[in-house]
Amino acid sequence: MHWSLVIAQDIVSKREEKKHVVATGITPSGDIHVGNLREIITGDAVYNALRDMGVDARLIYIADTFDPLRRRYPFLPPEYEAHVGKPLSEIPDPEGRLPSYADHFLLPFLDSLDDLGIQIEVLRADELYKSGLYVDTIKESLLRRDELSRIIKDVSGRKLPEEWSPFNPLCDACGRITAAVVKGYDLDKEEAYYECECGNKGVASFTGGGKLAWRVDWAARWKILGVTIEPFGKDHAAPGGSFDTGTRISLEIYNYPAPYPIPFEHILLKLQQQEGTKAKVTAMSSSRGTNIPVHEILEAVPPVILKHVISRTRPGKHIAFNPSLPLLNLVDEYEREIGSIGSGIAGELSFRHLVTLVQIARGDSSKLLDAIKRSGYELHEENEEELKEIRKKAEYAENWLRNYAPPNVKFEVQAAAPAEELKTLSESQKAALTLMAHELRGGRILSAEDWHNKIYEVASATNTEPKEVFKAIYIALLGKPSGPRAGWLLASLETEFLRERFEAAKKL
Ligand SMILES: [Zn+2]
Repeated sequence: MHWSLVIAQDIVSKREEKKHVVATGITPSGDIHVGNLREIITGDAVYNALRDMGVDARLIYIADTFDPLRRRYPFLPPEYEAHVGKPLSEIPDPEGRLPSYADHFLLPFLDSLDDLGIQIEVLRADELYKSGLYVDTIKESLLRRDELSRIIKDVSGRKLPEEWSPFNPLCDACGRITAAVVKGYDLDKEEAYYECECGNKGVASFTGGGKLAWRVDWAARWKILGVTIEPFGKDHAAPGGSFDTGTRISLEIYNYPAPYPIPFEHILLKLQQQEGTKAKVTAMSSSRGTNIPVHEILEAVPPVILKHVISRTRPGKHIAFNPSLPLLNLVDEYEREIGSIGSGIAGELSFRHLVTLVQIARGDSSKLLDAIKRSGYELHEENEEELKEIRKKAEYAENWLRNYAPPNVKFEVQAAAPAEELKTLSESQKAALTLMAHELRGGRILSAEDWHNKIYEVASATNTEPKEVFKAIYIALLGKPSGPRAGWLLASLETEFLRERFEAAKKL
């Protein structure tokens, strides 16, 4: 049974609600990366399991657009120093294209969710605050400031400063949401009075003029949005951590039971710096630049694969994500055991084979179609839909090669016979190539499987080790002693080209 179903069943047996709200959320302060995606995919899987069980459920994503920019990250220009402390929704887009900093990172991510087929209701924190949805909980929080402060101290051991307020006003002079101290408030007028570090004294409306401190905000949000289930990174689940604090605040201040927690482990990024070296494992982090943005990896693998990478592992186990050869192997395994990627011929063509074919075609789409036909697929070139699917899958293969493939997967079919390399061949290797050239006379076409068998036949007929014959083929075609599966490679190339190349070996 899939872990999402186990969790869904546990939720239904433990919670009394008849309608569930699964909440996810990420602060769009930097590229939203593959590691962040685990929260959404976990939430989506449980949401789908509940729906499959006939339970009424909603899946929401809260973008923390009203959170402040914590510091100027290395990817930001120096002038962004001035924006530190301002809400992400109120800072300009670093590239100046979109309405805000928050949009810059949020919108590509929402597009990726679309690609992943995840249908989620997106709520933006700045809009929720500006709509007045938080007014009642802000009042409640200000009234019960001392209790909130005590709960936070009890659970986290953190003593809050004397002037601490659960409400952080947005200073109307400097624009920061992190620098003002609340000096008083009027619950009827629904406003707070503050003094900011910048010297400004002002009035902050409970409707969009500030936000709740984050531990308080999290609990308030559960009540306001009726959240019953929430996946979150396991660091929040530590004893005395933010989930423990939120649970008590929710129950004692807002009289609302905390959601069913689904803590999950991190996704670790495994990157190989150089061939032959051990892959380096790092936690994904946007601020340190050790991450792959979701929209980037989705250029190199189909969405269904990315979803599979994450959802096949239960939330309590960490995932080591290696976009290099392990990712190619995973796509292979998926196509063999779970399902095809793409429809028609695109679905029949394995991704691994396409990785070979696109390297033969080198960006020429008619060459690609020829290579596909030669490898034994019956293409319907009048079928535009079929061609579109092939092109889409080929584009993934090209991007994967460009960005993530290890050097030993990459090759280039040599346009001219590589004379120097061919001279290194032994007499028996040359004899094997000559025999193969002979087999191709009269334009005889062999399938990948025929080729595979033929190599062994030729090896035996010329008294050569099969692995020496393979080596000779790669050297003749690619100028190096290794390459992709030889049967597929040979079947994808033109017969006449192969014949001439194999004959050239003999002459050298
Ligand atoms: Zn200020």
